[in-house]
Amino acid sequence: MKKLIDKLSLNHRLDRDELALLIDGRNEELAEYLFQKARETRHRHYGHDIFVRGLIEISNCCQNDCLYCGIRRSNHKATRYRLTIDEILECCSAGYQLGFRTFVLQGGEDLSFTDDKIVALIREIKQRFPDCAVTLSIGEKSHESYLRYFEAGADRYLLRHETANAAHYAQLHPAEMSHARRMDCLRSLKAIGYQTGTGFMVGSPFQTTDNIVEDLLFMADFKPEMVGIGPFIPHHDTPFAQQPGGTVELTLYLLAIIRLLLPKVLLPATTALGTIDPDGREKGILAGANVIMPNLSPQSVRQKYMIYDNKLSSGLESAEYLNSLKEAMESIGYQIVESRGDALR
Ligand code: SAM
Repeated sequence: MKKLIDKLSLNHRLDRDELALLIDGRNEELAEYLFQKARETRHRHYGHDIFVRGLIEISNCCQNDCLYCGIRRSNHKATRYRLTIDEILECCSAGYQLGFRTFVLQGGEDLSFTDDKIVALIREIKQRFPDCAVTLSIGEKSHESYLRYFEAGADRYLLRHETANAAHYAQLHPAEMSHARRMDCLRSLKAIGYQTGTGFMVGSPFQTTDNIVEDLLFMADFKPEMVGIGPFIPHHDTPFAQQPGGTVELTLYLLAIIRLLLPKVLLPATTALGTIDPDGREKGILAGANVIMPNLSPQSVRQKYMIYDNKLSSGLESAEYLNSLKEAMESIGYQIVESRGDALR
């Protein structure tokens, strides 16, 4: 099995059967070996630098009804909010003072954020903070809309593919949502020139090893500049309330495989990982991740962006605690850098 890991770290590619073997045959010793290879690869390209992104959750209103998500349309118990343009700009300003040079605008698919509004917002952020990158994560839009945002100055776009298998996608989403459309969106983003991010939940309901292998092969082929993976965590007011959550152990193992498949990828240790393990962020970094996305949203709305139960939004997860996060990273031999942290292409 170590030979497979050596092959992966040398060629950045394994075939379907090899990936399945690597996943199903994992144990602690192999994981340690894999993490070491992942760290070596990551150090070769990004050294010991960690990029931070200020995450602004602009709205929890959503027209979609993804079965796993706490802010799905049908969850009538969710208390809805949307930030005003001024509130978003205030978050950017606070984040800039703290040292953030990337702002991630994430939200549900909220149609009250019209394209005109989003374009005006991007322009304003870029004008006020010209040395900052803007990342959007606001779901599926038309090619024309993505183009307008890009021309207004947006640099990056995160849209997890959720699963590369259409039948599995249909088990996680209502019939009105389409796997083909999600994939079309990703192709549009890439063609337009965004640094494009995709990803999936580890341990999502009904996920098999074959599904994960398909996800990995899809990403190896699509070559996203960013990949976001984190454990699935059930939300009590969704149809998946009783489903088991994903594990830290498998998430870390897959982070390391992804680092070796896509050596230059920007790979966050996600909030979901930090939520199910107090040392999740550090463990993620030691498995090959190189990005952390602390929360910059106003305190008053943080508890409302509850996409899964017990989602962290305070302590090290919070942008105000950047100094503590710096110390935590220094204690494991890494340093947070004040830069846009673009992908190496
Ligand atoms: N609406 C945008 C979209 O669909 O891309 C962005 C917001 S969406 C809430 C961001 C991500 O949260 C999703 O891509 C999904 O993978 C993740 N997510 C949603 N519910 C989750 C859960 N219960 N556990 C873990 N991650 C979850």
